[in-house]
Parts: sequence; C-alpha cells; structure tokens
Amino acid sequence: MGVLADVKIISMKGVGKCYSHNRALIPVIRNVDFELGVGDTCAIIGPSGSGKSTLLNLIGLLDFADEGEYLLMGQPVCAMHSDELAALRKMHIGFVFQNFNLIPRLSVIKNVALPLRYRGIDRNQSMAQALQMLQRVGMAQRAHSMPADLSGGQKQRVAIARALVGQPSLILTDEPTGSLDGQTASAILELLLSIQQEQRVTLVVVTHDHQVAQLMHRQVMVHGGRVEEVRKCEP
Ligand code: ADP
Ligand code: MG
Repeated sequence: MGVLADVKIISMKGVGKCYSHNRALIPVIRNVDFELGVGDTCAIIGPSGSGKSTLLNLIGLLDFADEGEYLLMGQPVCAMHSDELAALRKMHIGFVFQNFNLIPRLSVIKNVALPLRYRGIDRNQSMAQALQMLQRVGMAQRAHSMPADLSGGQKQRVAIARALVGQPSLILTDEPTGSLDGQTASAILELLLSIQQEQRVTLVVVTHDHQVAQLMHRQVMVHGGRVEEVRKCEP
C-alpha cells in the first residue's frame, strides 16, 4: 500500500464540545480521539442524548469544537475562516438526512444538480451529471417530478444522489433510514453501501439500529461524551 493508504479523512484529537444549560456549561463531547481513512465505513451508536448528532455535526463542520484539534483531509479546521469552511464542506462532504431535506420548490433533477451549481459548474453539465446520478439510484424516470410527489424511499434515493453527485470524500448521515419501513430501509442501505464502494467514499452513519451498524467496518459508541471503539474490522 502506498502513501494514499495512510491519508486520514478525519483526524480528531482531544476534541471537546460543551453546551450551556441554565448558565452552566455541560460537556457533551469530551476528549475524543477519532480517525477514519479513505473508504472506511463507521457507525456511531449510543443512547438517545449521548451526543451522536453533535459528533456528526462537528465532523461535518456544521458545529465547532471548544477544544482539541480536528484535521479534515489533513487540513486544520480550527484555523479556518467561515468561507474556507464552507468551501471545504461544499467540495468534500455530502449529507443524507433522516427527513431527506429536499428543496420542495425544485424538481428532483434540480435538487440533485444543486451541489454542482453551488460549486460553479454550469447548468448543462450539472443537469447532465445529475441525470446520470439519478440513473444510478433508479430515479431517472422521476427527474422532473416534485419531491412532494415521491414516496419516502424515493425521496431518500434522490437525497443519496444529491449527496454523491459531486463525488465527495465523505458522506455523513444521521438515521438515514429512520423514516422508512423495514424493507425500504434495507434497499436504501444496500444502495448507499454499493455507491460507497464504487466511489470509495468514507461513510459515517449515526444509527440506533444494530442491523445498520453491523453493516459498517467500524462501530463506535458515544457514551458519557466519550467515544469507545465497539468493533473494528478490516475493510
Ligand atoms: P443524540 O444525537 O445522541 O441523541 P445530541 O448530540 O443531539 O444527542 O445531544 C446531546 C446532548 O446535547 C443532549 O443532552 C442535548 O440536549 C444537548 N444539545 C444538543 N444540541 C444542543 C444545543 N444546540 N444547545 C444546547 N444543548 C444541546
Ligand atoms: Mg441525534
């Protein structure tokens, strides 16, 4: 294995995050060391309120640590200005949410093209790439539908296409199947994992579903603000 094998997509050292409650500072994430390499998959598990979403938001640059060091793709996040952070997020991270978060006034294909448009790619190329990605997730025939006219599973397929259309380095998802029935949930996970392997993208999934967690190479548990390794196997 060459140098590439050693590149860390995520590298956190001593990361901590507090929230204030009634003027007291409550630590939610404490002294976390966490690393993920290229193409790794990791489940974040733990009880409700343990800090899973907070950790995912820190990883995704949607929230910021009070202490410690975070390198995203080797770049120190703490030292960056908000426009640099936004650029890093736009280029390298795709998000898939439990409630899909599609933009209701935009058609399916325009939703998928959006991350490319945000990067300044012209309309025709963005739409062509979006259509290709919709084909990959089995939704090309609904390219011109509005999100409201789709089922939950279809919406999540579109959301996966949107997250992956720009070939990000990292996909972050918080309970991606939490709003879907069992059979649809399995199909969505299968799709997410097969594209993850094709693109060799690093995937982090917050889930309280053990079956979902079992599908990832690694499982970490957030407990009392700390991150504990539950299982690690070779990709
Ligand atoms: P989980 O996703 O594991 O259910 P969260 O990360 O959402 O947990 O929340 C962890 C703890 O941090 C909870 O006690 C929650 O109330 C608190 N918390 C989360 N976000 C905020 C916030 N923006 N302001 C204050 N407290 C918060
Ligand atoms: Mg949560």
